[in-house]
Amino acid sequence: MTRLYHYVGPDEIATAVAAIPIGFAIRQLQDVMRWIKETEQHINRDGSIIATFTIDQHGTLHLADRHSEHVACAGGNPVLSAGEITFVINGEKLEVSAITNQSTGYCPQASSWPDVANALQLAGLAAPGHFSSSYEFRRCRLCQAINIIKDGVLECALCETALPEDWNF
Ligand SMILES: [Zn+2]
Repeated sequence: MTRLYHYVGPDEIATAVAAIPIGFAIRQLQDVMRWIKETEQHINRDGSIIATFTIDQHGTLHLADRHSEHVACAGGNPVLSAGEITFVINGEKLEVSAITNQSTGYCPQASSWPDVANALQLAGLAAPGHFSSSYEFRRCRLCQAINIIKDGVLECALCETALPEDWNF
């Protein structure tokens, strides 16, 4: 089931990045190469590039520099998913070697994968069949901190309050 995720991070960040242009839309394979060139992305020695991604509400993949906030990549809009994506360039070949739902700005669930898979397929990108690493997010009901659940421990990293069993944004 498709769910639209709204930005849940601090207002200060959303305000600070409001003037940054929305992430580069990827509608075909060549768009990734265009984005790499136009934004002068650093390619690692092993041919890999890590980027921030969001999937807009129409199902299109957007890319931004890996140090970008997801809310900037999404132009402040709600998303179908968000996270980090790793491309590997091997000669003429371009592949997605890893992809995660790690975004504390949107806290998308692992169940957002089908929308990610659709966006990658529409762009003609070969990809793994699931998130390479998937994360669980909870908001602390006491101190409001956004937590990434580690090792299944449902406890707030800031105030040690028990976190809810279910996703709660
Ligand atoms: Zn807390």
